Amino acid sequence: MKMPKTVKLYCPKCGRHTTHKLKEYKKKQPSGNVWGERHKKANKLKGYGANKIKAHKTNKVYKQNKRPTFVAECAECHHKQMFSLGKRMKKVELVSVMG
Ligand SMILES: [Zn+2]
Repeated sequence: MKMPKTVKLYCPKCGRHTTHKLKEYKKKQPSGNVWGERHKKANKLKGYGANKIKAHKTNKVYKQNKRPTFVAECAECHHKQMFSLGKRMKKVELVSVMG
C-alpha cells in the first residue's frame, strides 16, 4: 500500500493539527539481558525433559502479511505517536505527494 511521507495529524502536545512525518515502525532486536530471556535460560536448566520450554512449531504459515505500525513525528515539537490502520498489507511504500 502506498502511504504519503507527510500527513496532517492532530498533535496532542501542540493542541492543533500540524504536519507529521510518517515512518514505518520496525521492531528492534532484544538486548538479550531482559527479564524474559533470563527467565527462559534459567528454566532450561531446571528439572527433567518435560519441564523444558518447547518452541512452538507450526508447519503451515498462518498468515503471510502483517499489520504495519506507523510512527508519526510532529514537525514542530518532534512528538511521536504510533498508529496502525488495522489492515494487513504485503508491502508499504512511503510516497512523497506533490501539493
Ligand atoms: Zn507537535
